[in-house]
Amino acid sequence: MDNIIAEVAAEMVLECNNCETKLNDRNRYEDDNGTAFCEDCYYKFYSSCNECGETVSADDILSHRDRIYCRDCHTNKFTACSGCNETMLRDSAVSHNNHDYCNYCSNDAFSICESCSENYLNNEGGPDNLCPSCDDDDNK
Ligand SMILES: [Zn+2]
Ligand SMILES: [Zn+2]
Ligand SMILES: [Zn+2]
Ligand SMILES: [Zn+2]
Repeated sequence: MDNIIAEVAAEMVLECNNCETKLNDRNRYEDDNGTAFCEDCYYKFYSSCNECGETVSADDILSHRDRIYCRDCHTNKFTACSGCNETMLRDSAVSHNNHDYCNYCSNDAFSICESCSENYLNNEGGPDNLCPSCDDDDNK
């Protein structure tokens, strides 16, 4: 019991590193470096990842549709469209030559080859709905 009181007393004198609000055990938040902040300032600088619950500093937060993610989770879950740069779920991405495309861009930019069923960039393909390699074969 004495220990707890002593701890609380020690925490009472702490001030928020940002706004100098006096901190007690109820409004004291610490980052990974042990720097103390009040609740308001802490949530200004840090948030927790909606996916893994990890605390992330504001600089490292990536958000998507009101949900926030740490870099790792964001990288795991999302990818950026090489066409329009839109962030999308990896599951919904269309891959082409190690690039990911959103549905919109893939419809716009790609066709499915009638010969090999590979998708190819419209501007690389031949006139007969053939991908570049099938088109080459055709012309030989
Ligand atoms: Zn503060
Ligand atoms: Zn995360
Ligand atoms: Zn796109
Ligand atoms: Zn083909």
